[in-house]
Amino acid sequence: MKSGGCLCGAVRYELRGASTSVTYCHCAMCRRWHGHVGAYAAVDREDLALVEERGLKWHSSSSNVRRGFCAECGSCLFFDTAGDPKLAFCPGTLDEPTNLRSKAHIFVASKGDYYAMAEDGLLRLDGSP
Ligand SMILES: [Zn+2]
Repeated sequence: MKSGGCLCGAVRYELRGASTSVTYCHCAMCRRWHGHVGAYAAVDREDLALVEERGLKWHSSSSNVRRGFCAECGSCLFFDTAGDPKLAFCPGTLDEPTNLRSKAHIFVASKGDYYAMAEDGLLRLDGSP
């Protein structure tokens, strides 16, 4: 089992099932929300258990997407797409070792103009997977 949480501890969670590998999203919305590229992995919705949620707030960023963050320290934590059996989380919030691997960059065509992407052997997609 893996555990994770925000910077201040007002949101803590446990992963009770296997996680996907990590995807990096370069879209403008994720860059704004994370401050740079967004990293995500996902678990089956029922495998993510909140063990502390006093700081957790949700921002509806699209009609079918809400983003979970800590209202006390500002950490980005969850990306929840309505109807998706998986719930995405920000892997930087996991306690280490995460034992996760990276898989792909997505929305590469809309990446920020202030950085270059080094060749890293990962899959690159111009939209969502
Ligand atoms: Zn916090």
